[in-house]
Amino acid sequence: MPHSTQSDLHGFRRRGVLFVLSSPSGAGKSTIARRLLADEPELAMSVSATTRAMRPGEVEGKDYHFVDLEEFRRMVAEDEFLEWAHVFNHRYGTPRGQVEAMLAAGKDVLFDIDWQGAQQLFQISGADVVRVFIFPPSMEELHRRLTSRGTDSTEVIDARMARAANEVSHWDGYDYVLVNDDVDSCIRGVKTILAAERLKRSRQQGLIGFIRRLTR
Ligand code: 5GP
Repeated sequence: MPHSTQSDLHGFRRRGVLFVLSSPSGAGKSTIARRLLADEPELAMSVSATTRAMRPGEVEGKDYHFVDLEEFRRMVAEDEFLEWAHVFNHRYGTPRGQVEAMLAAGKDVLFDIDWQGAQQLFQISGADVVRVFIFPPSMEELHRRLTSRGTDSTEVIDARMARAANEVSHWDGYDYVLVNDDVDSCIRGVKTILAAERLKRSRQQGLIGFIRRLTR
């Protein structure tokens, strides 16, 4: 169903939401992100650059921009990233240009980045950033999900479990927290957050003009 915002209805633009979704890998974040993008036409995904190898089924330019270390370093040196961080011994970064283009086109932007990225983005963009953390139902369930994916070795899964514990420990750096024990209700929760954030007074750039017209 097409989503229409308050701003569409009254002909004034609002500031785009920089919507950050973080969770330990395996907590269901990719499913949630996919469903959000399918249901929310005003939301566009920020595609990160990474130095890690492509996994089976991943698509260049859709899941990530897969670059080598040299290219990543060049992008850092030329200030092409809004933020970047080391995660699992690889580098991940958010290319600045695409985010600016999406905001200029009137979109909200969805970021699948870790706590370090959420923190950096918040330092740059403050109130425009909404940070949402998704917990797995339990660490046992997370382990089961990571194993059943069948794409990673035992060492990689053990490392991800260790990283998950670390990632979870940063939950207090987020504005909203949800537990993904039921994916549908978790998605409903995430959509509710997005809808409320879109309506915030601070995002309604043209509000003064609108109110003047309304009260004239
Ligand atoms: P994966 O390798 O499983 O796709 O992602 C590993 C982790 O890196 C995830 O927690 C993901 O959110 C994070 N990540 C992906 N892209 C970025 C990025 O551009 N910046 C930061 N800081 N983290 C990222």
